[in-house]
Amino acid sequence: MKPLGRYRGDYRWAEIPREAYEPGGTDFLGVTRQVLFGRDTGLTAELRYFEVACRGHTNLERHEHAHAVVILRGKGRVLVGREILAVRPFDLVRVAAMTWHQFRAGTSCPLGFLCLVDAERDRPQYPTPKQLATLRRDPQLAAFIRV
Ligand code: MN
Repeated sequence: MKPLGRYRGDYRWAEIPREAYEPGGTDFLGVTRQVLFGRDTGLTAELRYFEVACRGHTNLERHEHAHAVVILRGKGRVLVGREILAVRPFDLVRVAAMTWHQFRAGTSCPLGFLCLVDAERDRPQYPTPKQLATLRRDPQLAAFIRV
């Protein structure tokens, strides 16, 4: 593990691949991931940089592990539980265990953010049709959600 990971500009770091984020149980669009600090750091956490392209969104999901997020680039909106939050650079987003969440890029895009997670973590769950119907009973959530 090298002590320095050089910043290359444009939200890229030396020797860190930018991966297309794998689709899950729900559709998604235009999300990339760079693992800035992975398991080889010896920590029990990982720090990733995600970028959501213009008009893109992350999966709607929930899981037992929490997220600690720092917005770095662009503006967007985030669903956390039943709240839709407008976010901009340096805002902090806290996603507790088993809380539905989805990030959407806004008109200032891409939306880029750091996301801190447990290194050992459970796999995301995606909403069942029944759970989706429950979420969509709220008109604001219904308008926001992308699956
Ligand atoms: Mn998540």
